[in-house]
Formats: sequence, C-alpha cells, structure tokens
Amino acid sequence: MELKNAVAIVTGGARGIGRGIACALAEEGARVAVADLPATDADRQETIAEIERLGGDALAVDVDVRDFAQAQAMVEAARAKWGRVDILVNNAGVIAIGPVVAFAEEDWDRVMDVNLKGTFLCSKAVGPHLMQQRSGRIINLSSIAGKKGRGGSSCYSATKFGIIGFTQALAHEMAPFDVTVNAICPGEVNTYMWREVLSPAIGAMAGVSADEAFEGFIKTQVPMGRPQTVEDMGQAAVFLCRADNITGIALNVNGGTEMA
Ligand code: NAD
Repeated sequence: MELKNAVAIVTGGARGIGRGIACALAEEGARVAVADLPATDADRQETIAEIERLGGDALAVDVDVRDFAQAQAMVEAARAKWGRVDILVNNAGVIAIGPVVAFAEEDWDRVMDVNLKGTFLCSKAVGPHLMQQRSGRIINLSSIAGKKGRGGSSCYSATKFGIIGFTQALAHEMAPFDVTVNAICPGEVNTYMWREVLSPAIGAMAGVSADEAFEGFIKTQVPMGRPQTVEDMGQAAVFLCRADNITGIALNVNGGTEMA
C-alpha cells in the first residue's frame, strides 16, 4: 500500500507504542487519527505535535475501544475529516498480572474487554469500509505473551494468544477484499506498561528494583541484548502496511525473545 495520504487510525495512540506507530506512519505521509481515552489528552496532544513537527496531519479522537458505538464514531470521525480509512492499528491495551488463584475476576474482565473485545469491536467498525474499498490494512498488537505463557500472565497471555487467532481468522475473511490483517509481537519496550506494572512486579518478586528487574529480563531473555523501542514498532507497522502479499502473520519484533 502507498502510505502517502493513506488514512490511519491508531488506537491507544496517545503514548508508548501507539505514539511510535502513529509517528512512523505520519513520517511516511499517512494522515493519522490518534484515538485514545479522553483522559490521555495531554499525552495525545504531544503525539499530535510530534506528527505536525514531522509535517504530517493528525486528528485527536476520543474512544473507549470497549464500546462499539464509540468504535464506530472513531471510524466516522476519520472518514468525516479525510473521506476514507485505509489502516486500523489495534494497539490499545492494558495488563494485569498475578497467579490465577489470586487473580480478581474484575481484572480478568477488564483486560479481556480492552485487549481482545476492543480489537474485535474496532475491526468490526472499520471492516465494512475496507471491504467496500477493496483495500486496507489491519494491524493488531499481540506480544511475546501471545507466543508463550509465563506464570503470572494468564489473563494477558490469553488475550494476546487470542489476538493471534483472531488475526488469522480475520485475515481469511478479508483476503478476498485485498485487505491484509497481521499482528506484531513486541517483547520489551520500556513504556508505561513495563515501567509502571511489569518491572515493579518482577522486581518485587526477585527482591530487586524495578530498573534492575527490567535490565535483568533483557540480559537473560533477549538474545539481541537490548530492549526494543517504539520506533522499532513503527518500523514494523510501516513494513506491514507496505507489504501487499503478507497476511495472517504474527511478526516478532522482540530481539529474538520468541522466534516461532
Ligand atoms: P501504554 O500503557 O503506554 O499504552 C497503552 C495505550 O492504550 C494508552 O494510551 C492507553 O490510554 C490506551 N488504552 C487503554 N485502555 C483503553 C481503552 N479502553 N480504549 C482506548 N484506549 C485505551 O502501553 P504500550 O506498551 O504502549 O502498549 C501498547 C500495546 O502494545 C498494548 O496492546 C500492549 O499489550 C502491547 N505490548 C506492549 C509491550 C511492551 O513491551 N511495552 C510488549 C508486548 C505487547
């Protein structure tokens, strides 16, 4: 797909990996709807300022991906401004960790709703437009946790395995319409998710600081020996948007932590 003037929606685009992907697409000439919860507006304005600094065109859209009416309104906002939608990046995600026997049912429902149901609802909202256009890209954020389960990550892992299955099934449904559907599997990007949730939890279990926990994970689990960046995820998203004949894959962008 030609990215110049393509219209992309990035959910969870206010910060972290979503921001990296939004900026990378904008740098290639795409117009980007930065869709996120209203509470993230300060971060989202930074993403938009960065896109504008790159010479791009961006739109702030409020969405809670758990709500189909809001997902539809998000798609309509992009169409109202630019007349079409070409790319949906289902990036919005949350994490909660802990052993199954102590895991709260509300946390299970919340993580399932945002990560898995949100991916379904936003794809359902944009799907008819891409099918009618007979072109488009859907990119879903899975994880190393979508390739291998680790203790403490049952719920998050279930959503990320689920996203890979969803990606493959939707890829079949969309293929006759020349719409590709792929997933990206990051591992260790030091965003809010690692900084505020994973590193402190792993550190507490190991009796080390959060920073030491992150560095320890990188040293022991990542063959490339370094964390990934939000720019790495942007590069992968651009690659998947450009690729005309790749669909249904779950692309590892995790320094070799998972290779299958
Ligand atoms: P992050 O917490 O920095 O960003 C997540 C974004 O999702 C935030 O902007 C947040 O406001 C948004 N969001 C949360 N709930 C939402 C909702 N209901 N509706 C709309 N937006 C919502 O985390 P991140 O690391 O940038 O994660 C982005 C994606 O990448 C997630 O799907 C995550 O699971 C995945 N991922 C991250 C890593 C990593 O190493 N950071 C690894 C594997 C996968």
